[in-house]
Amino acid sequence: MAHKNFKSIEKTVFGRGSFAQLAEIVAPIRERNQQYFVYVVDHYFKGKALENQLQAQPEDVIYFIDVDPNEPTTEQIDQLRDEILATKGLPSGLIGIGGGSIMDIAKALALMLTNEGSSVQYQGLNLIKKPGVYHLGVPTISGTGAECSMTAVLTGPEKKLGLKCDWTIFDQVILDSELTASVPTDKWFYTGMDTFIHCIESRDGMLNNAYSFAYGEQSLKLCREVYLGENAGRSAENDDKLMVASLMGGLSLTYSEVGICHALSYGLSKIFGEKHCYANCLTFQHLGDYYPEGVKEFKTMLAKHNITLPTGLSANWTDAEITAMAHVAYNLPHMWNHAIGIDWKEKITLDTIKDLFRRL
Ligand code: NAD
Ligand code: ZN
Repeated sequence: MAHKNFKSIEKTVFGRGSFAQLAEIVAPIRERNQQYFVYVVDHYFKGKALENQLQAQPEDVIYFIDVDPNEPTTEQIDQLRDEILATKGLPSGLIGIGGGSIMDIAKALALMLTNEGSSVQYQGLNLIKKPGVYHLGVPTISGTGAECSMTAVLTGPEKKLGLKCDWTIFDQVILDSELTASVPTDKWFYTGMDTFIHCIESRDGMLNNAYSFAYGEQSLKLCREVYLGENAGRSAENDDKLMVASLMGGLSLTYSEVGICHALSYGLSKIFGEKHCYANCLTFQHLGDYYPEGVKEFKTMLAKHNITLPTGLSANWTDAEITAMAHVAYNLPHMWNHAIGIDWKEKITLDTIKDLFRRL
């Protein structure tokens, strides 16, 4: 088996208030292409204090993007790309400020500005032909690890699948946990649990190794402090910890893989448009036979933060919907391979997966 050979984020700033360094960081990049930057900012920040702290130049273009209720789509990226190129030409770079959805939009857009045709044709591994423009990510909610991953997940007409290659990785990230203070508590919980689940799934599978394990263990330790420890809950210190946990959880799965929860969750997102982190939580609670320790701990965290997840959902689903979700999940062989083993097809059939969905 060939060993994974991954690119890392080029440069990283970490620290409360570090967002103020943005202008200085991008100044040397402004020489490139048509000498302007495109900002993609989560719509939540429109009219908030952050809008006045963007440090944009007059020539820059700022898009405030509403990421609710839908996850980023191939159509949305293609449209934005066409609009940007038609108005001002190729920008010096892109700055993404927001959650996992905005991180993915920034990464996908950076690639699609230099690659012709629809993003649909690039959904998959190493299909992108040319490096994109410079792109910088500023996460404002911690958990998905999208700030460090080599994939920009997009929902297309056929698949929910990332544009995955070395060029997807950010050139720069700014990790300023002050920006996460305004995250509502339910989203703080669900998105943080994405990190927790990344670490469990990365560890409990075939591809676990000393490298992914070390990142995953450290990330889990931080998650436990944030959600279970003596000083659990919302605080500046915990916001710092969760931001690092998100990054390390992401790195852990880069060198390993996600598992059954993510495979099922992709089905839920594709068919019902359920948000990634929430879909993971809905699913993970029922996977105690696959991840006994992880699910037990997850339930303790739910109880500690008075979060009740709905159950009995599948009673309202048609067999066609369950089958469609099962197909999405079944078509993620790398996840099953990691979670179950190379002979997974002998143990997991479409019917097994349909039964897993019926647990929800
Ligand atoms: P998100 O970007 O969808 O945002 C969730 C919500 O939080 C939105 O309502 C947003 O407006 C709000 N929000 C964000 N920051 C805020 C702040 N500081 N204050 C108040 N509200 C704030 O959320 P997410 O859970 O981070 O990302 C989910 C997306 O990430 C999905 O589209 C999923 O496919 C993708 N994802 C990508 C990867 C990857 O490796 N590329 C990994 C996991 C998930
Ligand atoms: Zn995830």
